[in-house]
Amino acid sequence: MNTRLAEIYDGKEWKLPKEWFDKYPWLMSFNFHQFNAVRKDSFMWKMDNGKVEEYAVRRVYKSLCMNGPKVLWSGAVWFSQNIPKHAFILWLAFKFRLLTQDRLLSWGFVGDLRCSLCKRCPDSHKHLFFECEYALAVWRRCKVFGKMIDAPNSWPDIVKFVEEKGFMKSVWGVIGRLVLAASVYFIWQERNRRQFEEERRSVQQVCDIVFETVRLRLLGLTFKDTVSVRMAADIWGFEVKAKDIGNSLNGFENLGVG
Ligand SMILES: [Zn+2]
Repeated sequence: MNTRLAEIYDGKEWKLPKEWFDKYPWLMSFNFHQFNAVRKDSFMWKMDNGKVEEYAVRRVYKSLCMNGPKVLWSGAVWFSQNIPKHAFILWLAFKFRLLTQDRLLSWGFVGDLRCSLCKRCPDSHKHLFFECEYALAVWRRCKVFGKMIDAPNSWPDIVKFVEEKGFMKSVWGVIGRLVLAASVYFIWQERNRRQFEEERRSVQQVCDIVFETVRLRLLGLTFKDTVSVRMAADIWGFEVKAKDIGNSLNGFENLGVG
């Protein structure tokens, strides 16, 4: 491991035992970006644009990642106050990638394909968010918690709504996004519980869990003392503290949401 390149390569040829070339044929075509017998050896990585740069996991990761255009709904999913597991499920929902039965069907899955929430319609992403009467009842109540009464009830329309709304960093902007993420998360969780564990919770119980989870999250955040924050604090039962960076959850400054 301590052998330097200059000890086994003279700038034109390897100084290695001949049998090594049978064992490691790639040695024949091995390409050195620059050979300098005096300089310290280092690993290099050829980037997409052909530029050769010093190897670093960060650089390689970036060059391997596909960089698509930024989606307009990203701010509704990835924001510092969101609950990570909720953000993940919401992200899958925005990409229409949650594994509902209609997707499994295309893989040859055979089983009960009805929605486990209403037991009436085929289970699909479109049905779950929120054509299903159970899921719709949860969403209708949760929208009110998040002051999003004008939010639509079908997922493609919700995507448009989120893209157009853009959610501000105001207290209700944060609460609205937390409620959306928690609603999707707990509807998905309830669907899975019924599918795999046959446990059932009522619409009211799921709404209560959404409310309590968002409330607990809000308790960990620090808000600026403003009129709208005080109104939100009354409804959600959290305290309005003076902005205190050291006191905020996860070390986030929480943007002094106001
Ligand atoms: Zn259903």
